[in-house]
Amino acid sequence: MLKRIFLLLLVSASTIFSQPAESLNSSEIKLALKRLNTLGTVLYVAAHPDDENTAFLTYFNYAEHLRTGYFAFTRGDGGQNLIGEEQGDLLGVIRTQELLQARNIDGAEQFFSRAVDFGYSKTPEETLEKWGKEEMLSDIVWVIRKFRPDIIVTRFPTNGLGTHGHHTASAILAVEAFNLASDSNAFPEQLKYVQPWHPKRIFWNAWTPALTSMGINSDTLIKINLGEYNNLLGRSYTEISAESRTMHKSQGFGASGRRENLFNYFLQLEGESASSDLFEGIDLSWNRVKGSGKVSKLLMQAEAEFDFENPVKVLPLLIEAYAELQKLEDKYWVEIKSAELIKVIKSCAGIWAEAVTEENLLSPRSESKVKLGFVTRSDVPLILKTIHIDYQQKDSTLNSKLIKGEMISVERKIFIPQDANYSQPYWLEEGNHKDIYLVKDQNLISQPKTDYPLYATFTTELFGTEIDFRIPVFFRENDPVEGELYKRVEIVPEAVINFDKDLYLLKNGETKEITVFVKSIKENLDGKLRLLLEDGWNISPSFYDFSFSEKGQEQEFKFKINSTNSNVSANLKAQLDIGGKKLSKSLVTINYPHIQPQTVLPEASAKILKLDLQKKTVKKIAYIMGSGDKIPDLLKDLGLSVDVFTKEPLTTELLQNYDVVIAGIRAYNTNQRLSTDQKNILKYVENGGTLIIQYNTSGDLLADPSPYKLIISRDRVTEEDSPVSIINPGHPVLNYPYKITLKDFDGWIQERGLYFPNEWDANFVPLLEMNDSGETPKTGSLLVTKYGKGNFIYTGLSFFRQLPAGVEGAYKLFINLLSAGINE
Ligand SMILES: [Zn+2]
Repeated sequence: MLKRIFLLLLVSASTIFSQPAESLNSSEIKLALKRLNTLGTVLYVAAHPDDENTAFLTYFNYAEHLRTGYFAFTRGDGGQNLIGEEQGDLLGVIRTQELLQARNIDGAEQFFSRAVDFGYSKTPEETLEKWGKEEMLSDIVWVIRKFRPDIIVTRFPTNGLGTHGHHTASAILAVEAFNLASDSNAFPEQLKYVQPWHPKRIFWNAWTPALTSMGINSDTLIKINLGEYNNLLGRSYTEISAESRTMHKSQGFGASGRRENLFNYFLQLEGESASSDLFEGIDLSWNRVKGSGKVSKLLMQAEAEFDFENPVKVLPLLIEAYAELQKLEDKYWVEIKSAELIKVIKSCAGIWAEAVTEENLLSPRSESKVKLGFVTRSDVPLILKTIHIDYQQKDSTLNSKLIKGEMISVERKIFIPQDANYSQPYWLEEGNHKDIYLVKDQNLISQPKTDYPLYATFTTELFGTEIDFRIPVFFRENDPVEGELYKRVEIVPEAVINFDKDLYLLKNGETKEITVFVKSIKENLDGKLRLLLEDGWNISPSFYDFSFSEKGQEQEFKFKINSTNSNVSANLKAQLDIGGKKLSKSLVTINYPHIQPQTVLPEASAKILKLDLQKKTVKKIAYIMGSGDKIPDLLKDLGLSVDVFTKEPLTTELLQNYDVVIAGIRAYNTNQRLSTDQKNILKYVENGGTLIIQYNTSGDLLADPSPYKLIISRDRVTEEDSPVSIINPGHPVLNYPYKITLKDFDGWIQERGLYFPNEWDANFVPLLEMNDSGETPKTGSLLVTKYGKGNFIYTGLSFFRQLPAGVEGAYKLFINLLSAGINE
């Protein structure tokens, strides 16, 4: 896989871990020069990471040389993670980085709204109610005013053919925002920072079957061949876009390149009508910018005279263009084109600039060393005048004349002040969000990531013009296998606290031991560690003293907790007191080879759930793992004995040792063992065992899970608070050891369940009924039957989400399912 990753380098000029300085090769410089002479912007709008048409983005960036953006309403935090354990907010952090790596390859920019991906939504109405329509309109209007697209393109139509409620909502919002962005009465609070903007037109990037179902002939629409080949890159746009799409690894979206034509169709939704070209009638030249005649002339000349073997020859033209550009009034284009120009100048001059620290985690009130280096690998006459780093006491004046190939190296100390902001993902800073992230600073909204906390600026003089090269400060290390690696420098608290678990399960009357890890980020720290819990819970000891002499040390502390009150759940928090300063953050790092390593600082907390387990229940459980869930560990925490099976043969003799056999989520779709061993499992049930099967999809079943007719459908209930009816209240499974009542369906998260069967044999007894608003009742969420002497249970209820979240009612119901064979 690494080989593949480094290949990308050639195309995108950016490593998999962002490097402090990017250099373009001659082909890329040529493309950048064409782009400098093109002034136009296009914005693509959809709902999730992976919705974007990466071929479209690649084409408009590399073929049309336009400023190209992708606005995703969500960060994809409600999906499933195919590469690791992270869920929810942390999965959103991974998906955000995957999108940024995808954009590194296709060259587009990335934007997000504040919307949380709350899971599958059937209607745009539900989506907009949860997100807040005004907030979402504000976010997309904000991006339109900031990014100023000439053209907007939606991935989905507004008529619901995009199926997912988030999809349809993304198109509805884009069309409304298209009209609102130019209205100064809409979101006037934004006008402190941006001007109203009216895009020329908005299109839907239509797919043919949808057009056919709408009775539209695609030949009547504007079409573009996104599969064209680019000689400068040696690849077609669809080959590049496949690499981009492959970055969505947490969704398993590896894609192969296409080498033939790929026509896409565009149906106009609003705006001035166009017949043959999305950008019809839009001047994409420097004519758009008042007084830019001289800049335009210089840049056209640079493009025409560019020599692939000697890029430095056009530097005087580029430097003059840069100086002229600074005189223009149009701030939008001056900022964009200045940044593009600096990158080209740096590459033509063979400049390398670096600023690296010796550690990647820095904390307030601490001092750190930064090594700075600057070199030019060309004969260009260059003077390095000053170097400035954030948090450096004063600038360094150097006024050094550079000699080709000789690095100027200096080392400077910085001091991170007491009030420096932590540098975690900004949208997670406020914690407790529901369906929309809490972001106070308008200027952060739409940004894909938190900016680097430290920058270094190298001020130079080139042909009489002063030019700043500003780069982020990185931590750099050499890995014996991977070679040179860069990590973001982060500012984090002086010390961090992590619990050994997110959820502690207590049996009534039990005393539980809890382990807390404290890690120092700064040296010489003394203080106290306390756990915080509401009244009625006892913690022993009440605190620990800790003392760290060095940074990076970790100590382990054990507390005992129990309760005398009747509350079943509690939130456990931890706090450090260091000379009166209270710290309460934990530190989570996310490392995957395809994204930049991430640091997240959630509040140190864990949930406690107390369960009454006096009555007799099962002891030994066999868990047949499917696509992966955390239920086995949670059952072990309850004191049950659980053996997990992934590949081992499941013989009837083996299974006879267990009271219950559970199939994990999607086991009948993913665990090859089941294609041969299902007969043994049914034999085990016949002999008196209890089998619980969680949800599977019907498309790719390796074996029929059920001894009787059972048809799995796509029925799901996505409203986690949808009303539930108990249709068979007397059934033993709803009565032992717990009497299940409607209260047990309170506090569920994300959804009730999915892929419920919708047809079944008369032997099955349905126990529950539920449905999303406006739909017919679904009775297939929990089906039980006797089979031989045993019990067969099929359930699409999403226990795999509810149990890790500590939902009490879900535990009770699950323990009842486990106990199906006991009271008989
Ligand atoms: Zn989607």
